[in-house]
Amino acid sequence: MFAHLPPYAGDPILSLMESYQRDARADKVNLGIGVYADGAGVIPVLPSVRAVEVEDHFNSAPCTYLPMEGHTGYRQAVAQLLFGPELPDQNHLAIIQTLGGSGALKVGADLIARFFPQPQIWVPDPTWDNHIGIFEGAGFGVQRYPYYDADKKGLAFDALLSKLESLEAGSVVLLHPCCHNPTGIDPDRGQWTQIIEVLERRALLPFFDLAYQGFAASLEQDVWPVRECVRRGIAFFLSNSFSKIFSLYGERVGALSVFCPQDGQANNVLGQLKLTVRRNYSSPPLHGALIVARVLSDAHLRQQWEGEVNQMRERVHGMRERLHAGLAKVLPEYNFGFLLRQNGMFGYTGLSAAQVERLREQHGVYAVSSGRICVAGLNPGNVDKVCLAMAEVIR
Ligand code: PMP
Repeated sequence: MFAHLPPYAGDPILSLMESYQRDARADKVNLGIGVYADGAGVIPVLPSVRAVEVEDHFNSAPCTYLPMEGHTGYRQAVAQLLFGPELPDQNHLAIIQTLGGSGALKVGADLIARFFPQPQIWVPDPTWDNHIGIFEGAGFGVQRYPYYDADKKGLAFDALLSKLESLEAGSVVLLHPCCHNPTGIDPDRGQWTQIIEVLERRALLPFFDLAYQGFAASLEQDVWPVRECVRRGIAFFLSNSFSKIFSLYGERVGALSVFCPQDGQANNVLGQLKLTVRRNYSSPPLHGALIVARVLSDAHLRQQWEGEVNQMRERVHGMRERLHAGLAKVLPEYNFGFLLRQNGMFGYTGLSAAQVERLREQHGVYAVSSGRICVAGLNPGNVDKVCLAMAEVIR
């Protein structure tokens, strides 16, 4: 019956995680998967989340079904967090709770594929691998626009802009509003303005994917490109994830927002999102959404959580500086200044696949073959070892 099914080669990043777990070396370092670990190398339970989990009524609430679109209080609180003073009214925003950021991308992709025949999406080169998997899986043609300039170790801005200029009206363009995965390189405000002008002029459909709000500059500043599209009345999709910024990976908490600048459309968009959900998994999970809704809606917990996001961002930034200083010390003839210009959890080191393999084989330091490291996996106990190992494979 199943003889014609080919084996699955495995997901490159998740397979790396499995090899890491099998590695018996005591001083191994996991810089592969994009997970935030604290200074002791542990995935934290945020104190704001813990405070909700111990509340009596939280534990005794019945585990009912949520509606297709998710928990109402959650959706309102998330919309407020994403859009702040630019929050569109109900007639212009369709928002649903989703299974993490991945679930938001998938529901959005399915919706577009149903109503826009032969859809094409343009994703940055490089991007998170699963963008390609999810959109291809939903029937899209996936194409790339220039993003990373390997010589400059920076943004290929001119090439990016002229590619966007050349796209057909209605093309979907995937954009990372902050902390680009895998490069950590983000356009600056002026560059974003130019990108958004092209999106508007060429009538392109932005699909923002926000997995790291608050990990670049701040919760507010990191969503500037999204809010700018609201101010200009540009329709867009926005997926967002709370996996990292609430350290709630396994709960699968995220949302999909569709901004509908024209009157009278958001209701139908919301209806079709609900139908897409119904046909996929009926309704989203309850527990994580209750936690996030409570933290975001309670003034005290909210303030506490914002402080925790700031701490996570600053810890990673501190490790980035330590890595930079450590590498500059052991390899003074190289310039690693580019590392300091990258945002968020990742560092794009410029290491080749062969160098990454030597890091893993000889030093037990696990990175992605593209040369991406998760800076959030560094801590005072392993950063010196990582610098020495990197220097050894670079020399
Ligand atoms: N988008 C990007 C850019 C990501 O880096 C990730 C997580 N690695 C996701 C989406 C998926 O988020 P989630 O784990 O919440 O599905």
